[in-house]
Amino acid sequence: MTAIDTARLKHMFDVIAVAIEADKDRLCQLDGVIGDADHGIAMELGFNAVRDSLERLDLAATEPTVLLNTAAKSFLNAVGASSGPLYATALMRAAAAVKGKAALEGADVIAMFQAMAQGIKDRGKAEIGEKTMIDAWLPAAEAAAAAHAAGSTLAESLDAALAAAERGAEATKDMIAAKGRSSRLGERSLGHIDPGAASAVTVIAAMTKSLA
Ligand code: ADP
Ligand code: MG
Ligand code: MG
Repeated sequence: MTAIDTARLKHMFDVIAVAIEADKDRLCQLDGVIGDADHGIAMELGFNAVRDSLERLDLAATEPTVLLNTAAKSFLNAVGASSGPLYATALMRAAAAVKGKAALEGADVIAMFQAMAQGIKDRGKAEIGEKTMIDAWLPAAEAAAAAHAAGSTLAESLDAALAAAERGAEATKDMIAAKGRSSRLGERSLGHIDPGAASAVTVIAAMTKSLA
């Protein structure tokens, strides 16, 4: 594998933005059932802002950590919903995980992935089983790290992450929301996929596609 440079990272955000745009209506519909129906809009605003801010960077003169911090700031500024600070923290932690690197090797991508999941967990204080995006992000990061440690290629490790995210998002159907807006519904949140877990799958799928 050739190392992932800032051009590849920018490409990754382009792929995420396109995937989120295509998924926007479904994400709003999912949020309409147990939340306030804005999740697709929030994610689209966030990743479009990221794309615009990266467009203005001189990639050849930019380190991966700077690109990721730029992405974090623009996501935070663009999004008023809960997903704003959660993804901004994920991206800030991603930036910290690759600080000092000119380009990313497979191990750096895995570290970045784990840092993102941990950032969301630290920011939102959600545990597994509380019906949030953490139910997709955490098992995905764990699966990627386990596959990488067992000697899998980056592509294989990211595929494992995506499969785990999909299982995790599906499992939120049987969970009662305990964090965020939908926790007000209590048991009435049962039977519905969490929108943040659903969008996590979309983001992770785009990362998998663009980085592998
Ligand atoms: P809002 O609820 O403010 O409208 P969004 O609709 O953008 O925000 O995002 C809702 C999603 O955010 C939820 O589906 C859930 O996955 C996620 N979420 C909410 N609170 C938390 C939290 N404390 N930790 C992790 N994820 C959370
Ligand atoms: Mg919402
Ligand atoms: Mg909202």
